[in-house]
Amino acid sequence: MKYRSTRGGMAPQAFSDILLEGLAPDGGLAVPESVPTVSAETLESWRGLSYAELATEVLSLFIDDISRADLARLTHAAYSAEVFGSEAIVPLKPLGGGVSLLGLSEGPTLAFKDMAMQFLGQVFEYVLARRGATLNILGATSGDTGSAAEYALRGKRGVSVFMLSPHGRMSDFQRAQMYTLQDANIHNIAVHGVFDECQDIVKALAGDLDFKSRHHIGAVNSINWARIAAQIVYYFWGWLRATSGPGQEVSFAVPSGNFGNILAGHFARQMGLPVRRLVLATNENNVLEEFFRTGVYRPRSAAQTHATSSPSMDISRASNFERFVFDLLGQDADRVRACWQSLAEKGEFDLSELRPQFEARYGFVAGVSTHEDRLRTIRAVRDDTGVLIDPHTADGVKVAAPYVEDGVPMLVLETALPAKFSDTIREATGLPAPLPEALRDLGKLPQRVTVMDCDVAQVRDYIVRHADDAQG
Ligand SMILES: *Cc1c(COP(=O)(O)O)cnc(C)c1O
Repeated sequence: MKYRSTRGGMAPQAFSDILLEGLAPDGGLAVPESVPTVSAETLESWRGLSYAELATEVLSLFIDDISRADLARLTHAAYSAEVFGSEAIVPLKPLGGGVSLLGLSEGPTLAFKDMAMQFLGQVFEYVLARRGATLNILGATSGDTGSAAEYALRGKRGVSVFMLSPHGRMSDFQRAQMYTLQDANIHNIAVHGVFDECQDIVKALAGDLDFKSRHHIGAVNSINWARIAAQIVYYFWGWLRATSGPGQEVSFAVPSGNFGNILAGHFARQMGLPVRRLVLATNENNVLEEFFRTGVYRPRSAAQTHATSSPSMDISRASNFERFVFDLLGQDADRVRACWQSLAEKGEFDLSELRPQFEARYGFVAGVSTHEDRLRTIRAVRDDTGVLIDPHTADGVKVAAPYVEDGVPMLVLETALPAKFSDTIREATGLPAPLPEALRDLGKLPQRVTVMDCDVAQVRDYIVRHADDAQG
């Protein structure tokens, strides 16, 4: 299995070679040269597997430069009951009426990003050790991705994490979650500024190629192929749990932002998993819903991007979308390049002539959920079933509703637990969301964070002093 770029300008590379890179050298994204298929018999033979065993089967189809025995070791370390709270790892939670939640948020940061990050942490450590290399991950976070990366990489050999966050602008819970980590290889840097300013510092440093190569600076962003590959596993898991025999169809509803989660669903479907529909849910930032409705992709500016009560879906452009467009355009890199040329020149591209294929060929439908929808859905699900869902998952439940069909289980991906977004839960129900037992005392633990001015030079200096200093 080799990987190529969506823009056609990269020599084929193995999984471990693209693992540590961001964009392909031609500005495109890495995709498999061909999509592996899974027969109905093979699928049936997977019914009895544990989550980690299933992950070994699915990931080995995409990773052929790590031995099967080693891959099994990595997946068992990533998907253990200690990390995910139970042997199920991903529980299916029925809501009634043919709808179930696929519980992707049982990991340490209570959101689905743990599913991919926990594997990424294991495979980063493995590949770096094999190469005798080290990596210093530099990132900015407003909460979700940064904490998932820190929990996945804490204590890992060969990797340090430098995570910038806006000082005083995260919730108490988010701060406690990140800043209580005491591992020597985790560096929390709180910057006097807003998230965009943190992001600007990261861009400035990552754009300094001399600094970047001298200090082995890397990233764990949402376009990382290993994250997508790890996410494909839970579509198979969900299908196996919701069906009892070959060929039965299941639909998935996916609260979406950067198109990473649902892209994994697209791959699972292309591999032969019997998926009827992939229901894409957006919040008020409906760039993707607009595309699936009209065929026109028109990213927004920062000023046109709303701050909503499902904040992890507040995106202006969808960083993984190019991988789907590549398939839509018959894997023609010239046409992909032309689309992104049009984006650069006109701020949009138009694929409305392909609109009939979106659902008929790829199973995609889309819808929008607003703040009012979110509150109403959280209340209705609690009243009907006693289950409390988070605002992002509520967007999924709301948009899924018109696509629920008799005999086709609808699995809504639970992308976070309500405890993470307690203010909105209180607004919807009058009561805050209860914290999971294991996290009740988090607020009392000592915090470890370095506060800095919003200044590239100060951050650079800190990294130079601390890079590679925890490579035990
Ligand atoms: C990241 C995130 C999303 C969006 O996922 P994408 O892969 O960016 O589409 C949705 N919900 C939550 C809670 C998230 O953290």
